[in-house]
Amino acid sequence: ISKIGVLTSGGDAPGMNPCIRAVVRTAIFNGLQVVGIKQGYKGMIENDMYEMGTRSVSNILNLGGTILKTARCLPFRTDEGMETAYQNIKAQGIDGLVVIGGDGTFTGALRFSQKYPDISVIGVPGTIDNDLYGSTYTLGFDTATNTVIEAIDKIRDTADSHDRLFFVEVMGRDSGAIALRAGISCGAEAILLPEKSTAMEDLIAHLKNGAINKKSSSIVIVAEGDKTGGIYDLAKAVQQEITHYDIKVTVLGHLQRGGAPSSFDRVLGSRLGFAAVNALISGQSQKMVGLEANHIKLTPLEEALSHHDFKLESDLLQMMDILAI
Ligand code: ATP
Repeated sequence: ISKIGVLTSGGDAPGMNPCIRAVVRTAIFNGLQVVGIKQGYKGMIENDMYEMGTRSVSNILNLGGTILKTARCLPFRTDEGMETAYQNIKAQGIDGLVVIGGDGTFTGALRFSQKYPDISVIGVPGTIDNDLYGSTYTLGFDTATNTVIEAIDKIRDTADSHDRLFFVEVMGRDSGAIALRAGISCGAEAILLPEKSTAMEDLIAHLKNGAINKKSSSIVIVAEGDKTGGIYDLAKAVQQEITHYDIKVTVLGHLQRGGAPSSFDRVLGSRLGFAAVNALISGQSQKMVGLEANHIKLTPLEEALSHHDFKLESDLLQMMDILAI
């Protein structure tokens, strides 16, 4: 390996910048050149790349988002798009790629490196959804969860003052990871997750029980991938059954994706970026670097993508209702 290209793709996640910084500096320390590819695969196709030096990543550890920008790029899904991308990075002399993103990004990376095996590819799990197999945590999940907690703590203040019940929708696509952690952290009265169905009667009984136990407010966290029904319809249906609370709905939205990365995500980004470059140097390809039991682990991209049965922590699932009685 002599020249590494680094890109961020798919949804942005706090911690991507510390990771880019680690990739650039680890590569340069090892005598390699580094090229920053703008807007994910789009920059490969449109030849939007620039040489990066140690100072080009100064003062970015504390920044959310990604200095390389990110995009969803449809042409990269086609053979023609991939060929153009390949020709462009070959012309640059790039022989190794670090791709930071989620499952879509890894699917693209795997197809690309199967088609063009002379380009080694290492993936870094960068998504707030925490939905990849092979890493207990993905970059951005911790920061996003902390942002959610901060917002729900504020909602709790107003809910408590007015005897209100709030339905709060949080991000995570098909994963309830943010919802579950935030729910435990904020003492949510109920957490609706895509991984676990909740019957309407049970939810209502649970909330009525809260009133009997003299709770002055209730928070129900709804993961965006929850299948109980849209959050507004859900709130309306519950309001018909529960009249002692005034019900409000808050959809937290994209504020969850921004903000300075937490200490955890800065360290995780640094570790994974460092490990990704070392993996390329040692001849690895088509792997994802992850963190399991506090150790760096390499997982074949194929495997990281094929495990759709990502499980939430069973003790958290077990305690989520019990701790809210
Ligand atoms: P997040 O989990 O945050 O959404 P992601 O990496 O899953 O991140 P996607 O938009 O699904 O985000 O994928 C990012 C990019 O990866 C796509 O815009 C596309 O360029 C590329 N990609 C996804 N699937 C494929 C595929 N089957 N073949 C080639 N490229 C793909």
